[in-house]
Amino acid sequence: MAQIQPQLSGQPILILPEGTLRQIGRDAQRNNIAAAKAIADAVRTTLGPKGMDKMLVDSVGDIVITNDGVTILEEMEIEHPAAKMLVEVAKTQNEEVGDGTTTSVVIAGELLKKAEELLDQDIHPTVITYGYNLAKQEALKVLEEMAIPVSLEDEEMLIKIAKTAMTGKSAERASDKLAKIVVDAVRKVAKIENGKVIIDKEDIKRVKKHGASAEETELIEGIVIDKEVVHPGMPKAVKDAKIALIDTPLEVKETETDAQIRITSPEQLQAFIEQEEKMLMEMVNKIVKSGANVVFCQKGIDDLAQHYLAKNGILAARRVKKSDMEALAKATGAKIVSNLDDLSQDALGYAALVEEKRIAGEEIIFVRGCKDPKAVSILVRGSTEHVTDEVDRAIEDAIGAVASSLELGKVVPGAGAPEVEVARKLREFAESLPGKEQLAVMAFADALEIIPRSLAENAGLDSIDILVSLRAEHDKGNKNAGVDVFEGKIVDAVEKGIVEPLKVKSQAIKSAAEAAEMILRIDDVIAATKVSKGGSEKGESEEI
Ligand code: ADP
Ligand code: MG
Repeated sequence: MAQIQPQLSGQPILILPEGTLRQIGRDAQRNNIAAAKAIADAVRTTLGPKGMDKMLVDSVGDIVITNDGVTILEEMEIEHPAAKMLVEVAKTQNEEVGDGTTTSVVIAGELLKKAEELLDQDIHPTVITYGYNLAKQEALKVLEEMAIPVSLEDEEMLIKIAKTAMTGKSAERASDKLAKIVVDAVRKVAKIENGKVIIDKEDIKRVKKHGASAEETELIEGIVIDKEVVHPGMPKAVKDAKIALIDTPLEVKETETDAQIRITSPEQLQAFIEQEEKMLMEMVNKIVKSGANVVFCQKGIDDLAQHYLAKNGILAARRVKKSDMEALAKATGAKIVSNLDDLSQDALGYAALVEEKRIAGEEIIFVRGCKDPKAVSILVRGSTEHVTDEVDRAIEDAIGAVASSLELGKVVPGAGAPEVEVARKLREFAESLPGKEQLAVMAFADALEIIPRSLAENAGLDSIDILVSLRAEHDKGNKNAGVDVFEGKIVDAVEKGIVEPLKVKSQAIKSAAEAAEMILRIDDVIAATKVSKGGSEKGESEEI
């Protein structure tokens, strides 16, 4: 439908193209809020250790079973623009801190729900966003005040953080072992620059292999390459490895284009083969001359080249992933070369040991004792592929949680304690405000309590009872009082070992508030009609 603007001289004026959809004012707000709430509701039941999992089936029938907020939202192929903004919140949370994705989306949804109630009371969106912004800043202050310091040496605390991040995922049963692995890995790769702990999560490489229990997940100091030694005649282990990284094929190029080679006599064929052999031999000679005894090639290695390499006692693997090549370069100090002529001694990297081992019926190459040991690998195990994937996501969350705790050097209690404490302080703060923004700050406080409420609800507890008791404890000054969802009672979260990075909480509140504010400011949605409907993949998926 085209937009018809007020008539000037009896003639309607069209300002938007035919077919543009437009929603204005309250309709636009309501529609956006409804969409955002729907997203929050979709993930709310997965929150916390007793949260349920979701099974997602995509258009080709692939299944993902997960409890991880951002994974669910990414798999959902969401179309609504406001809903997409909440997905963005989860993604930002994931990129910035790697945990707390469900929390951020649930809070954003609840902030919008409370805002809707205020809109119903004819409070202007500008007042709400102003109040929300004040509340957000105050909330961040309160979080900061209740934070507890943590350092690299604080192994016990770091393990608690890792375990808290993993509870509720299928990895939980192995969480003692996995938490230790995560903490060890993070401590290995941590660097201290100007008194600050810096952790590059890329330095912890994860390789997934199913066929064993999550308990058998292993930390390897070095790089694990999911490839086998290419030729049976090659050594399976090389000590004092001098490593060449080559990103060009060790093959004689197939004749290009359609050129044909006519071979008319056996002698010619022989000469041709000999020529090829000679070229391959030269390639291998260049490698041998450089002093390399291990080769990782990003491309293929010709059978004959393999044979020559084997004869020279060189261990080689082919079709190594680009990301692995880069990790190897970083860890061993090798340069990746494209031209074998550049392969000199100083292009080679070093590792104390390169060896092939059989894991889960497959060969894997371990590169240990690297020059820069600040790169480690975690061999992630699980009984089936789906379990392994979920164990891997749990490990990723735990790495994120431990890393971000160390970066800020601060943690907060979990189990709903920070939300209840912040809500309490916000209500006090609201009283000091003169205008209607007071109501918005109150609404913000109420919205945060969705976290303890959902934790309780998902555990089958009476959420009102729990919330009332929590508030009472906090009024008494027990800042760390949270809900133990396993025992169904109020506990000191820190004593119980339920701790989370400050950054997870502050980022979750910050991005949730910002997304809510952004959605509330919209009073006009002008949507162009979709180009090429029907037939295209998009058109088909819309019917779901
Ligand atoms: P998110 O994607 O937001 O990290 P999770 O499903 O991981 O969502 O749940 C995180 C919430 O669960 C946090 O509020 C955390 O404090 C809480 N939590 C973790 N472990 C426990 C526990 N043992 N008891 C109660 N709450 C817990
Ligand atoms: Mg989590």
